[in-house]
Amino acid sequence: MALPEHGTPVDEVIASLEAKRAHDARWQDGRTFGMVFDGGPGPHEAAERASQLFLHENALNTQAFPSLGEIQSEVVGICRELFHGPESAAGFMTSGGTESILLACKAARERGRQEHGITAPEMVVAESAHAAFHKAAHYFGIELHKVAVDDDWRADVEAMAARVTDNTVLVVGSAPQYPQGVIDPIPELAAVAAAVDANFHVDACMGGFVLPFMEQLGHDVAPWDFRVEDVTSISADIHKLGYAPKGASVLLHRTRELRRYQTFVFDGWLGGFYASPGMQGTRAAPPMAAAWAVLHHLGLDGYRRLTATTLDAHHRMVEGICAIDGLRVLGQPDAHLLAMAVDVGWENHLDVFAIGDALAARGGWHLDRQGPPDSLHATVCAGNAPVIDDFLADLQAVVAETLGTRADDRSTSYANLE
Ligand SMILES: *Cc1c(COP(=O)(O)O)cnc(C)c1O
Repeated sequence: MALPEHGTPVDEVIASLEAKRAHDARWQDGRTFGMVFDGGPGPHEAAERASQLFLHENALNTQAFPSLGEIQSEVVGICRELFHGPESAAGFMTSGGTESILLACKAARERGRQEHGITAPEMVVAESAHAAFHKAAHYFGIELHKVAVDDDWRADVEAMAARVTDNTVLVVGSAPQYPQGVIDPIPELAAVAAAVDANFHVDACMGGFVLPFMEQLGHDVAPWDFRVEDVTSISADIHKLGYAPKGASVLLHRTRELRRYQTFVFDGWLGGFYASPGMQGTRAAPPMAAAWAVLHHLGLDGYRRLTATTLDAHHRMVEGICAIDGLRVLGQPDAHLLAMAVDVGWENHLDVFAIGDALAARGGWHLDRQGPPDSLHATVCAGNAPVIDDFLADLQAVVAETLGTRADDRSTSYANLE
């Protein structure tokens, strides 16, 4: 396709875009367990109106747009409170979990170089840690040591400690990790990093806007935030269970000194002083404004309400899956994620990928294929709550229907090119 010679009226342009969406995941129906996190009409309206207001602004230069500087520092301040950061804690908004993680790794590398003279930096992560850590290692020339998880899918502290060397700049824990949704043993892992004066990053991209409210609702939540002394940085995605639209995450450091290693400051070209917190230059303002708007629209009580709904939906889903012969949930997920797999002994009779395909065909359900081991991943949010019973009914039906069949396609599906 080439750019048309003549322009097209807006109505026609929009109609064409609408037509393109015909085969997209139907997240509005609550049948997509991941990717879009639906907080309902209130957060939608807050996000849409705030985005529209800031559609054309640029957060590249917050001196020209002080509103965006304020928005950023207020969002970061909210996160500092939620994650029990000290007064000294400081951070920036980023475009998403991946950018937050890339920057956490880059900051650890810089600190290792400047404070310890490390020129061949290494990091230690569990095999459950998000792919973004591997991306960071790839981009930034950090050698990554990947360590098998325990039987309960949590990071294995001793095995990770064994991979720490004098060149370690970063150890990572997740709260919770994505694949099975369990919280790693954060205090123990943090101590492993502290022993060599390395950074310890908590990936709370998923948990950052769930765990604080779970705790406020009276649930037992394993320690994961800045109350754990040796945690040096935390990433949390507002565009996941913060219910803001895409493009909003936060990376918070324990101190301003640690944050300094994240930023890029430069004055050696013909275009003038250039200081930038993240990977981007020109920075979209709508995700920042929308995140601020959704946070303020919901407030603590709104988040507690959505979290209670989410946890109840997750609980019903786990119970319902486990009640079906031949299926199980991997480990004991700590928050709102789950991985559904075929039960031990049923491997020759049921195939979870065939079940996933049949769920899509039968009811438009979308769960990501993942592995190893072969499993279907669900991120449960408040928007899924109304259809959990329908899901379980369809699941029961497709388990019977797919008995003895196996999907030819064994590929997994977290993210794709093209
Ligand atoms: C989603 C996620 C990320 C990556 O975030 P993106 O916003 O997709 O870039 C990292 N870690 C965990 C645990 C996640 O769930």
